[in-house]
Amino acid sequence: MRKKAMSLLLIAVLVFANITAVFADSTYTVKTGDVLWKIAEANQLTWQQLAEVNQLKSPHLIYPGQILKLDGTTAEAVSSASGTTKAAPKAPATAASLKRGDLTGEGKGVHGNIQVAVTMEGKAIKGIQILWQDETPGVGDIAIKQISDEIIKHQSVAVDTVAGATISSKGILAAVTQALGKAGVNLADYQKKPQKSAAAGTLIEKQADVVIVGGGGAGLAAAVSAHQNGAKVLVLEKMPKVGGNTIISGAAFNAVDPKRQVPLGIEDSIEKHYTQTIEGGDKLGKPEMVRTLVEKAYPTLEWLESLGMKFKADIFTVLGALWPRTHKPVEPLGTGYINTHMNYIKAHSNDIEIMLNTKATELIVEDGRVVGVKAESADGSVTARASKGVVVATGGFGANIEMRDKYNKKWPALTTIKTTNHPGATGDGLFMAEKAGANLIGLEEIQLLPMGDPVTGSLSGNIEQGVENRIFVNKDGNRFVDEGARRDVMTKALFEQKDSFMWVILDKHSYPTGSTKNNFNETIDQLIAEGRAFKGDTLEDLAKQIGVSPENLVKAVAEFNTAVEKGGPDAYGRTLFADKIDTAPFYAGARVPTVHHTMGGIEINTSAQVLDKAGKIIPGLYAAGETTGGIHGSNRLGGNALPDTQVFGKIAGESAASGK
Ligand SMILES: Cc1cc2nc3c(=O)[nH]c(=O)nc-3n(C[C@H](O)[C@H](O)[C@H](O)COP(=O)(O)OP(=O)(O)OC[C@H]3O[C@@H](n4cnc5c(N)ncnc54)[C@H](O)[C@@H]3O)c2cc1C
Repeated sequence: MRKKAMSLLLIAVLVFANITAVFADSTYTVKTGDVLWKIAEANQLTWQQLAEVNQLKSPHLIYPGQILKLDGTTAEAVSSASGTTKAAPKAPATAASLKRGDLTGEGKGVHGNIQVAVTMEGKAIKGIQILWQDETPGVGDIAIKQISDEIIKHQSVAVDTVAGATISSKGILAAVTQALGKAGVNLADYQKKPQKSAAAGTLIEKQADVVIVGGGGAGLAAAVSAHQNGAKVLVLEKMPKVGGNTIISGAAFNAVDPKRQVPLGIEDSIEKHYTQTIEGGDKLGKPEMVRTLVEKAYPTLEWLESLGMKFKADIFTVLGALWPRTHKPVEPLGTGYINTHMNYIKAHSNDIEIMLNTKATELIVEDGRVVGVKAESADGSVTARASKGVVVATGGFGANIEMRDKYNKKWPALTTIKTTNHPGATGDGLFMAEKAGANLIGLEEIQLLPMGDPVTGSLSGNIEQGVENRIFVNKDGNRFVDEGARRDVMTKALFEQKDSFMWVILDKHSYPTGSTKNNFNETIDQLIAEGRAFKGDTLEDLAKQIGVSPENLVKAVAEFNTAVEKGGPDAYGRTLFADKIDTAPFYAGARVPTVHHTMGGIEINTSAQVLDKAGKIIPGLYAAGETTGGIHGSNRLGGNALPDTQVFGKIAGESAASGK
């Protein structure tokens, strides 16, 4: 108690004397099953602080018995183990940078308290320093930055929260409010709603044949096809750039393609793709929608090629695809889809306009027909009228924590599970379409992947190169699931493992050289250098590096290799095999569950026309991509979403251009 009080006194002295903290008396001995971010959270630190102070090559590289320093400083080496978790000073790493007059405050975020220091000059808020936050990367952290800027700009804590990041938004607002409370100012002066700027009051009128909401994969495909069918097009995109989830995707595209599959000896058929998609979604997909998807996947791939997009000759099986029919574009990630459409759009810029930073808020309905869209931009309020049709292509709601929590029925609480999605995936189109009478289906069908980065939830750093050549092992080094199974099956099995944590294990077959890249454009050497993957000359060596039992890992790989030889289903029911894992170097990469895709959404027909609750077509309204439901059922096959966006994006453009 006395020691803690002395520590706190010391922090106070150091903070206000503006000198670097230099004590190191708190330690923690790592127990079996510990993960770094949980230790950090329990000690009110960030994992980055712990990794830095303990000079960890990787946040995943901790082992039972290891002694971690908890004080966030880089003081002397630790000599004794305490075996217990002691409270550590909050955010001491930044204490040195606090200035006299900085006011600190805390507010509840998604992953612990958000801590800030506010700098005042007289009565003016001059700066907001984030001392500590662990919000969802790409979602909560962006909200914190945006709101801090807004508070300073408007000198108000009554600024709007960021859609899809309400908890983080409220956390930063509460933290700044608390800090202001210590300034002895009249809080009411900072709680006035900011006046709308002159620009925001400006009315912008737009007219096009087809207005498209959302500049991601489906929206841009619709823009190109609407133009090819004679329409003048306006695309509204709320983010500062086009691309959405499509541009950050792994780009895997399923299509039955005899031209590429037959020379590789892969037997396939439209019927097989259909059956696997229907069965893989527990028969909840609408048969006619699935039929359209699988039949048009290859002609749509050819359409993309006709627009200049290039796909590799190789065919593989992306995770959860269930069959080798996955195509990979030549350009990295999903940039090929977006660049292809943008090249066309730029070449036809007289007829296709894209308005960035323009958030659609409402569909305009007149006499039962959708005739336009209302939107807000920094330049003013937009009324975009569409003489032929409006296409909603706003993507899914994987980044909207409130919606995930509201609709989730089958997973453990998703509040703190991270996501692979971009921050704009907040389900806006669903609200707008529903208000215009659309029927929403399957919203509870939320897809998680077992392939999230333990720190960010993103797919980057995923070392797998296809399903056939890798296994998953848990923290004990044991396999636990058919690694070729459906995504929901694998993720459920992962939730049952210690800390919902696993290692992907593979060998040289996946990475013939150190400069071989994964699906996310990262070389294996780069991942190893960053401590995000591990390399061993033997399986025992690899096991030691990642802290799993060498005996178990060797046994798991040996059993897998026997199954490869036999070719039949193994003890887990796995049937997808190619090479043995028998050639050094061996590699490992850590993964956890992450929210990936929302299968439910706006109900459409095979012409991408939106249906109302009675199953009738809503005139003038079309939708495509992840904002729609009824295709993937309860579980989307890996590699089926991009064909979905392109097939139905193209159809939506055609239908809207014809005004049918
Ligand atoms: C990391 C990652 C990897 C993936 N890998 C694959 C893969 O390899 N293969 C596969 O088949 N699928 C994959 N998926 C899924 C697939 O990428 C998505 O389902 C697909 O890209 C969705 O496309 P979309 O056009 O419907 O939405 P997006 O591409 O997300 O586009 C929607 C756009 O609408 C904008 N928007 C939203 N609201 C508004 C509004 N109110 N006003 C204006 N604009 C708005 C958004 O900002 C966004 O730009 C992956 C997904 C992720 C996140």
